[in-house]
Amino acid sequence: MAEHATTDTLGRQLHDLRVSVTDRCNFRCVYCMPKEVFGRGYQFLAKKELLTFEEIERIVQIFARLGVRKIRLTGGEPLVRSELENLIEKIAAVDQIEDISLTTNAVLLSEKRARSLRSAGLGRVNISLDALDDETFKAINDVGVPVQKVLDGIEAAASAGFDSVKVNMVVKRGMNENSVVPMARYFHGTGQILRFIEFMDVGNTNAWHDNAVMTAQQIIDLINAELPIEPLEANYTGEVAERWKYRDGGGEIGVISSVSKPFCGDCSRARLSAVGKVYTCLFAADGFNLMRLMRDGSTDAEIEESVGNLWSKRRDRYSETRTVESVLRPKVEMSHIGG
Ligand code: SAM
Ligand code: SF4
Ligand code: SF4
Repeated sequence: MAEHATTDTLGRQLHDLRVSVTDRCNFRCVYCMPKEVFGRGYQFLAKKELLTFEEIERIVQIFARLGVRKIRLTGGEPLVRSELENLIEKIAAVDQIEDISLTTNAVLLSEKRARSLRSAGLGRVNISLDALDDETFKAINDVGVPVQKVLDGIEAAASAGFDSVKVNMVVKRGMNENSVVPMARYFHGTGQILRFIEFMDVGNTNAWHDNAVMTAQQIIDLINAELPIEPLEANYTGEVAERWKYRDGGGEIGVISSVSKPFCGDCSRARLSAVGKVYTCLFAADGFNLMRLMRDGSTDAEIEESVGNLWSKRRDRYSETRTVESVLRPKVEMSHIGG
């Protein structure tokens, strides 16, 4: 089947696919998988309910024909899915895919693992770290993992020679705003880009409230008061992080203002959950069931047509139209589609 660009009702082209490979995680971050919901009794998906690597490979091939060039692997925690390298090799073999990246909490990212992910074809790694002191960090991850464990993962990634290693910090008022400046200082001058993410109302279990959002501007002001910064041009259209650089040459940082300054107008991302549903927005209630189509014997051409139709009807712009009511609407959980 011929390749073509797939455009939605607002003229946005399908370009990125985020693939959640598991709903499981070795953390219980309070803003993502709070223990009151994801506690001991929580029923995670069984292996047979997950897309196999062969099924993900087939979906990536189909999405590539529809215009996807970038794949990000996420979760839950993607490194808890065994033999992830096999999946990366399969995706790397898909001709049109130019970029494969991974978002991880880095607990399982030893030097050996980082090297094997790199040689499988992984290009870039984003590591999540929300504080630099153990007291705050343990209160966030809620499973007692110390900061050093993640810093070791960042070092392992840095030494494995990835094209880039970025560090992502979600900032939530009352949780870790006091960690913004220490984190900026720590990564200043290291070449590792730190990106601050506004706390979002993803799913329905994280007790989101707009009072808890530290806006990108507030974060910028905090940093600028200690380490002067100035804005930088975007690297490419649709880049979600606004870039800033330290005036003293200490490198750059990013801020992702998904709540205070949404970027739906450039949103080129589709998301695939671990059970094979496609979501055209992070805040959607439900997804389109690709696994069923595949397991019912649909051909590649039939699946391609369904996904193309889904994208061409897409009208999503949740963050630009967020209201008190929309926040309370049923939405898929972050651990199912991976951010
Ligand atoms: N477990 C991996 C990790 O933490 O990097 C990958 C999945 S996690 C869902 C992906 C990213 O989403 C993480 O950087 C996490 O901090 C972020 N995240 C989770 N819940 C969020 C929320 N409510 N608002 C903003 N970011 C969130
Ligand atoms: Fe796990 Fe990542 Fe969610 Fe934290 S943010 S609970 S590490 S999936
Ligand atoms: Fe894209 Fe939906 Fe986020 Fe808007 S709210 S940027 S459409 S994922």
